[in-house]
Amino acid sequence: MDPKVIIVGAGPAGISTWLHLQKHAPELANHTLVIDKAVFPRDKLCAGGVGGWSADVLRGLAVDIDIPSVFVSDVDLKFGNEGYRFHQPNFFRVVHRFDFDHALVKNALSRGLELHQDETFLDALREKNKLIVKTNRTEYSAKALLGADGALSVVSRKMMPSRRPHLAQTIQIYAKADAQFDTEFHEKMISIDFSPFKEGLQGYLWHFPCLIGGTPSIAHGIVDFRIHRGRPKADMKKIFSLELQSRNIHMKPKLWSSKPIRWFSKRDIVSQPNMLLVGDAAGIEPAFGGGIHLSLSYGEVAAWAVIDAFENNNFSFRDYGKRLRSHLVGEWITKCTRLALEMYGDRMNPLDAAREVFPESRIPPELLSQIASELEKAWRNS
Ligand SMILES: Cc1cc2nc3c(=O)[nH]c(=O)nc-3n(C[C@H](O)[C@H](O)[C@H](O)COP(=O)(O)OP(=O)(O)OC[C@H]3O[C@@H](n4cnc5c(N)ncnc54)[C@H](O)[C@@H]3O)c2cc1C
Repeated sequence: MDPKVIIVGAGPAGISTWLHLQKHAPELANHTLVIDKAVFPRDKLCAGGVGGWSADVLRGLAVDIDIPSVFVSDVDLKFGNEGYRFHQPNFFRVVHRFDFDHALVKNALSRGLELHQDETFLDALREKNKLIVKTNRTEYSAKALLGADGALSVVSRKMMPSRRPHLAQTIQIYAKADAQFDTEFHEKMISIDFSPFKEGLQGYLWHFPCLIGGTPSIAHGIVDFRIHRGRPKADMKKIFSLELQSRNIHMKPKLWSSKPIRWFSKRDIVSQPNMLLVGDAAGIEPAFGGGIHLSLSYGEVAAWAVIDAFENNNFSFRDYGKRLRSHLVGEWITKCTRLALEMYGDRMNPLDAAREVFPESRIPPELLSQIASELEKAWRNS
């Protein structure tokens, strides 16, 4: 039998969408198929910083992720000679996405998820009030197609073939933690350095302590959001190479990894009749590029949009953009976009921007989630 809903991508956005469907509309979740071109466990280039927001969404779904992690209590931010240190006990957990995404998938499978691995989405054609969805294996007919297929989303390309997404380039490597050069592992601390602003970088360097195969390691990385596209481009490779040398790392550039971050612009299209985008496929924030928490929360908004579409037999998804904007996801992306425009446009000290994201006194995650669910309820009752 054909599924009613197809989700493309079993990363955090796709699995969170399915888990929210399963929580609020189990019958619909039973008629939802998730496909992924990869076979799990699969890797995903990421620094793996998972904060309280993500933990809270997972708690709401009763998902416990028991995997090797480094718990981090400090974020050390630097801009030239200035610094700011954010401290909150065990605020971040640094995970390896190989384990994290696999644990999420296993949890959903244990609740009855139908997952087709090694199946690639190719195309979708609208036929009256439904879609014909083509994959490398077969064709399905479905009422709703959700693109949770990451930053280089093929679903979004099918939706808006002429639009170029905003992609931020990144480079990341893992290296064994060296106590002499990398204090991050010992101090359970994440370092973020905005100093390469002066070389035109619209982003930062990062060092995240992590465990790779049980070995204390550091994820060293760099991102350039280029939110101000007209400005001269920074030489990311040179900046990164010098940073690695300063830490006594001499890895050849051909061994570095690179994958883009897709950031959201309010002009982007996130839905069409019968189709909507979730997580990186829609876009995350361009200030710090954190996207795991946003992808998990996108899943909640998308699940409610799909549930309401089936209840009202209306698959236009015309209000999906508005739902996102009224949710914490949209509010956070809007706030971070403002910060990114200001700090990467030399109008704000990046440490002041960081203070807004990592403030001295934080809203506790439980309260954040309460706010999110109140906003969601208010939306549904409006
Ligand atoms: C270098 C780097 C560092 C980052 N560090 C952090 C961090 O520390 N903290 C944080 O919160 N965020 C971080 N992010 C962002 C974070 O990785 C993403 O926001 C997050 O992975 C998005 O989840 P997703 O489910 O939307 O997409 P993904 O995790 O990319 O999952 C998409 C899935 O879709 C599948 N897929 C793709 N195309 C197809 C197709 N055609 N057919 C079928 N399946 C398909 C893929 O196999 C994949 O499993 C980082 C990103 C980068 C690039």
